Amino acid sequence: MATAEMTCQELVELVTDYLDRALDAPTLARLEAHLADCPHCERYVAQIRLTIGALGTLESEPELTPEARQRAVAQFRAWKRG
Ligand SMILES: [Zn+2]
Repeated sequence: MATAEMTCQELVELVTDYLDRALDAPTLARLEAHLADCPHCERYVAQIRLTIGALGTLESEPELTPEARQRAVAQFRAWKRG
């Protein structure tokens, strides 16, 4: 069982897999442990989740300009490729 603490950098790299529910159980447990301790990452994950949700419904997210959304999507796709 993996007990190493997850870093913020690692979380950022895993967030799309997390939201896709593509993580294995030990990694998921480490990620959620990190989220419980790190308000920055918690906010970050919420932001990405909102972005994906906005894309899914084609509703515009009030706090997100079209430009900001495009940037987020580009970033999201870059992560998926990476
Ligand atoms: Zn963090």
